[in-house]
Amino acid sequence: MSFTSLGLSAPILKAIEEQGYDTPSPIQEQAIPAVLAGKDVMAAAQTGTGKTAGFTLPILERLSGGTKVKGNHVRTLILTPTRELAAQVNESVVKYSKHLPLTSTVVFGGVKINPQMQILRKGSDVLVATPGRLLDLYNQNAVKFSQIEVLVLDEADRMLDMGFFRDIKKILDLLPKKRQNLLFSATFSPEIRSLAKGLVNNPVEISVSPENSTATTVEQFVYPVDKSRKSALLVKLIKENNWQQVLIFSRTKHGANRLSMYLEKQGIKSAPIHGNKSQGARTKALAGFKSGEVRALVATDIAARGIDIPQLPQVVNFDLPNVSEDYVHRIGRTGRAGEVGKAISLVTAEEAPDLFGIERLIQKLIPRIDVEGFIPSDIVPESNLSRKPIKAKKPKRAKPNHADGQRSGDNARGHKPAGKNKRHFGAKGSESGGNTAANKPSRRRRPSKPATTSPSK
Ligand code: AMP
Repeated sequence: MSFTSLGLSAPILKAIEEQGYDTPSPIQEQAIPAVLAGKDVMAAAQTGTGKTAGFTLPILERLSGGTKVKGNHVRTLILTPTRELAAQVNESVVKYSKHLPLTSTVVFGGVKINPQMQILRKGSDVLVATPGRLLDLYNQNAVKFSQIEVLVLDEADRMLDMGFFRDIKKILDLLPKKRQNLLFSATFSPEIRSLAKGLVNNPVEISVSPENSTATTVEQFVYPVDKSRKSALLVKLIKENNWQQVLIFSRTKHGANRLSMYLEKQGIKSAPIHGNKSQGARTKALAGFKSGEVRALVATDIAARGIDIPQLPQVVNFDLPNVSEDYVHRIGRTGRAGEVGKAISLVTAEEAPDLFGIERLIQKLIPRIDVEGFIPSDIVPESNLSRKPIKAKKPKRAKPNHADGQRSGDNARGHKPAGKNKRHFGAKGSESGGNTAANKPSRRRRPSKPATTSPSK
């Protein structure tokens, strides 16, 4: 299938060609005709599947030739959980609408609101926003919704995890009833389904199933170590293996800061990225990491979510996540598009239960490597891989603003986040995230479907 057969017009096809895309990804093949036909869509798809173009291209097609947007009004609203994702989605909209007379704007918290109010005065065909800041702007009369034709909820599961449920409900109440609704989520938990009930009408359901497990390869290893020796072991591994671009996950914001400082002291250019950092610092850290100036990016889960870094060779879990599914999301960032990626975890005896939970989820024992001089005095117990089915987990009540809440205007406003009872919407096998197509300057391969850490492997 080619893009030309999907019903997109010349200015959009030209922009696609300039991006070097030659074939639509599976989600694009399904979503583009459905959105063009004006249908509501409910799609199970993660970052790396090409979902952004999947909804953006047909929306732009529908917007072009429509009515002119009035001052302070918007015609399409795209809600995302994080600033990074909002900025990336807006970048995509700008790229794909390059040859169309359409405007796009992005707004999120953590930066001054006045410049955003100014820009919105002219109105914008597309507005990409995080929920908190959007409500602030609405309350200040800077944005009006009566011209809205299309609403997109991107990464809806993560928005609920971050406690944005009430903000989303509030926003939905403010929108015109007659509109097209597109809901994208990595997983379809009961909470997402209940949100969908009041949102989409007779939707086209799309699910991108994981690619077969040979397409992407992630080598996984566990390094048992004492807590006090983790940082030194990490430095040794980075230096000895000469890792030039490594994404390191820390469970806490303070931990990320501390580790980043330590790495710098050891001569490894590093930057932390998390919700307490200003937007400027986050953008700078990410740009530095992408350009190769920053060798080690230390991130918390939420800050890292949705970051599009193609062909990441190395992911390190400095701390294991407490939620096993997050491990799969984390390691899904490496081993993309046929490249072999490595995901290693530094694990203390204390973290053994988390390790067992992960191994049970992926139904695989992760090989362990003992490094001389770092053998822990507190031995990490042997795994005993249980093949009992996993019971639905009790919803985890992450405190808003605790793990990595957004600041100013993007805070989950003190309400309970929804649970993490993740279930795939028609997907067979595992969940993993962040799988991105090779970002080659010339012809680009179409994005692979999510990396698989399939239970059957
Ligand atoms: P997304 O899942 O929307 O985050 O997109 C993942 C990556 O795939 C982005 O870097 C896109 O630029 C790229 N991409 C999207 N569609 C295609 C396509 N049809 N062919 C090649 N690359 C694509």
